[in-house]
Amino acid sequence: MAGVLEDIAIIGAGVGGAAMAIALHQRSISCRIYEARSEDARAIGSGVTLGPNGCRVLDKLGLLKQVALRCFRSEVHELKDAEGNTTGNSNPVTEQLYGYKNHRLYRQALIDEMKVKLKECGIPVEYNAKFEKVVDETDGSVTFLINGRLERATLLIGSDGINSTVRKYVTSELPEYMGLASVYGHVLTDTVQWPSKTFNKNSTIQDNPGALFMAPEVPDGSELMVGRQFAHPPLDRANWEALANDKDKLCALICKDYDKWHPLSQSILDQVEIERNGLLLWSYHCMPKLARRCSPIGRIIIIGDAAHVIPPSSGQGVNQAFEDSHTLAVLLSSLSPEMDLNEALDFWHGLRQARIDGIMKIADDINKKRLPAGQRFVYEEANGGHDQLLPADAMKWLFMPTTEDDVAAWINSHTQP
Ligand SMILES: Cc1cc2nc3c(=O)[nH]c(=O)nc-3n(C[C@H](O)[C@H](O)[C@H](O)COP(=O)(O)OP(=O)(O)OC[C@H]3O[C@@H](n4cnc5c(N)ncnc54)[C@H](O)[C@@H]3O)c2cc1C
Repeated sequence: MAGVLEDIAIIGAGVGGAAMAIALHQRSISCRIYEARSEDARAIGSGVTLGPNGCRVLDKLGLLKQVALRCFRSEVHELKDAEGNTTGNSNPVTEQLYGYKNHRLYRQALIDEMKVKLKECGIPVEYNAKFEKVVDETDGSVTFLINGRLERATLLIGSDGINSTVRKYVTSELPEYMGLASVYGHVLTDTVQWPSKTFNKNSTIQDNPGALFMAPEVPDGSELMVGRQFAHPPLDRANWEALANDKDKLCALICKDYDKWHPLSQSILDQVEIERNGLLLWSYHCMPKLARRCSPIGRIIIIGDAAHVIPPSSGQGVNQAFEDSHTLAVLLSSLSPEMDLNEALDFWHGLRQARIDGIMKIADDINKKRLPAGQRFVYEEANGGHDQLLPADAMKWLFMPTTEDDVAAWINSHTQP
């Protein structure tokens, strides 16, 4: 039985947890958030791309208008050869096709806007509040420890990220390293010697040693993220952290084989080197497919990175956390007391997992585009060429999900006449 769903506890005030809380609040379901970090903690200093699917959720949450003011908006991400000639495009992401363009902004800017909204909605957020463990779960409630203090809620939603603690009440599975990492940093766009004034910086340059992928981070495009992806042996968490803090090593990794890059890429790498103190590392992990996203009783649920870590090449980490939050709020608010919570959550998990499976295929394709030239040509040869023609709305499944309608149909089919 679904029972009364109110007074829901959310662990983590990242993008997924904040979206979850706002979506529940909109549906008059009371909730509160516990966040381990302090209120003024800063997010990793890079940007996130909100695709039309993520923009649609933000729009529904009443956030897009404000967030969009801080975004660089784009319709295509171009593929370039080593000299900077355009050789292909990502599928266009236009308002006509999908309702929204791609919106990119610094992650901190997104979180700041979400915090303002949480305050406006009067949603309680306790900072410096670490979830420790579940003490008890029954058919109607979950009792858990925050900073050693007992708390109780009707549902506990873990939105506590890649190293989730809540996850262990749902699965013993852990994120697996994919053998890939990227180093990325930021340059002032105008400091690079571009081939022309109109050169589209929202692009990926495919050169001999690999690819440099770039995306403007601010509305006027004056700050540019530049990254490079490569195979890297596995490390334990402490050693990944040590590497992330060693800016000289990160600089050596992104500039590796400098002499083999063409002058355009060298000009970009020169600026990256100057800005080496801002370099960041991202080791790529993914989550094995989970059988469920909730505990056996169904009162503990995981969303976002806690449930489905996906590689950054998909550009979908934040977008999928948003989709999780929105669709879960729609589901929970539609359940009537006689409906089976577990059955509903299993249905929701199936819908969400199908999308993650599709996104993993996109990430794999983009990973191949970032390979060193030799390996990339072998892959392209075996897979029908450099740039295959796709229908104009090929990304409709990703950017215009039907999950909300699917949930509504499921609810209807489970409602007694
Ligand atoms: C280095 C790096 C770079 C990234 N760059 C991009 C990018 O460019 N584009 C993109 O789309 N995605 C990016 N991602 C992925 C993206 O950040 C995630 O997909 C997204 O943030 C997931 O949101 P979330 O709310 O699930 O988790 P998070 O944003 O990780 O939030 C989890 C929150 O839970 C809190 N928390 C954790 N444990 C506890 C606890 N025990 N008690 C209370 N609170 C807790 C954390 O402090 C945090 O605030 C990046 C990830 C990493 C690691």
